[in-house]
Amino acid sequence: MTLYLHNTLTRKKEPFEPLDPKNVRMYVCGPTVYDRAHLGNARSVVVYDVLFRLLRHIYGLEHVTYARNITDVDDRINATAKQRKITIKQLTTEVTQWFHDDMAVLGVLPASDSKSSGIMIEPKATDHISGMIKMIERLIKNGKAYAAQGNVLFSVKSMPDYGHLSGRVQEELEAGARVKVENYKRDPNDFVLWKPADADDDPSSTFESPWGKGRPGWHIECSAMSTHFLGTDFDIHGGGSDLMFPHHENEIAQSCGAFPGSHFAKFWVHNGFLTVNGEKMSKSLGNFITVRNLLDKGVKGEVVRFALLKTKYNEPLDWSEKLLNDAKKNLDYLYRGLSTANVQAGRELAQNSDNEKIREFFIHYLDPLKDDLNTPASFTALLLLAQQCIEQPVQQAKDLYGFLLKETAAMLGILEHSPQEWFQGSAAAGDNVQPLIDARIAAKKAKNWGEADRIRNELKAQGILLEDRPDGTTDWRRE
Ligand code: AMP
Ligand code: ZN
Repeated sequence: MTLYLHNTLTRKKEPFEPLDPKNVRMYVCGPTVYDRAHLGNARSVVVYDVLFRLLRHIYGLEHVTYARNITDVDDRINATAKQRKITIKQLTTEVTQWFHDDMAVLGVLPASDSKSSGIMIEPKATDHISGMIKMIERLIKNGKAYAAQGNVLFSVKSMPDYGHLSGRVQEELEAGARVKVENYKRDPNDFVLWKPADADDDPSSTFESPWGKGRPGWHIECSAMSTHFLGTDFDIHGGGSDLMFPHHENEIAQSCGAFPGSHFAKFWVHNGFLTVNGEKMSKSLGNFITVRNLLDKGVKGEVVRFALLKTKYNEPLDWSEKLLNDAKKNLDYLYRGLSTANVQAGRELAQNSDNEKIREFFIHYLDPLKDDLNTPASFTALLLLAQQCIEQPVQQAKDLYGFLLKETAAMLGILEHSPQEWFQGSAAAGDNVQPLIDARIAAKKAKNWGEADRIRNELKAQGILLEDRPDGTTDWRRE
């Protein structure tokens, strides 16, 4: 089966055909490094990590180039550095390291030019300021941008196609423009490519330019870096659906305006929001859980990854404790299946087999993922494979299913531990906590207060503190 992806540009699921199968190119908007990544940020990173793994599998390790930027120049960075009384460099270095550490625990492939992870590039915006300035100069020369009072603005009216990706027409945009219009803007929708430095800005966040000292706008970063690494036309551009407008719309306008005749990205892929009680998880709403919060509570990275992938990438995902508990149970079952098999023996069997059923499976085992990254369907297939491992009476059959299980899981970035590590490690990380909490809730329901207290004390002796919530559930944390 060929790979199908939902393309936001056409609003259809389409067969994916790369511009050059020897160099399949993908760009994804990365984090702004001012604070810990929350689960919404992580969803985006994990989803495109699966797509990257799949592309490498289909086209070959060295035939896929994936760039995911680090935004290390931004108003929120300046504000946070000021608030924390540290330099911008200190802040961005620290937060980038946090991001790398947290994503590594989630099994996200790191930036590397080594053969083992294909070509994954993680450019920093501050290393590409000169590329951004050159692009802005091209835009001015092409009549798409203008300088005004130390700013450079993109003229939205100069691009008749503006709004195509998000389905907004210019008149609609104008009618909806509620923001106060700065007097240097020719049109309310014009957006910033370059803005002047403030008098009290940290010098490391301002840069010399033909328009004076200042900073690039956020949108131009991605246009400049994607062109630098992937060329003016490339295959896939990804990001959260919140970025579709205005960020991605502006990226298209800038890139096509700077390089007339180019189409920028052929496929636009957008992941859905991660929500909490139906509301988008975000820093500004204060309803966020960071990846680190969960890891500190003893939740395994692979459990978080599984929970993030259990819903199809472009559907909303409502985060809950239950989702996490179910993910843990499912992973336990998969590891249990794996523990019955000798994967290496299974690999040899599979490679030498002329069994029709096995060959069929090999042809189709990635079909769910190729069908627009249908991770839930892929998980269902994995659970069935684990069930086969457990229930098949013949060892060779277990080995074969175990091998298929491991191969499929590798595309999803799970089952990366040995079953032994998984089960022993998880006992140390408080694996018995949830059953005890459940038993305590049952004891409280039965008004058996002595038993409830006994369980609380038993957990306390293990360094686990309980917090009862008003809704009847119980949270726990390490002392
Ligand atoms: P930011 O650091 O806010 O620029 O966001 C980095 C990435 O995380 C972007 O690709 C966003 O689209 C994505 N993102 C932020 N919040 C969420 C959310 N609640 N659900 C899914 N993706 C999100
Ligand atoms: Zn971007």
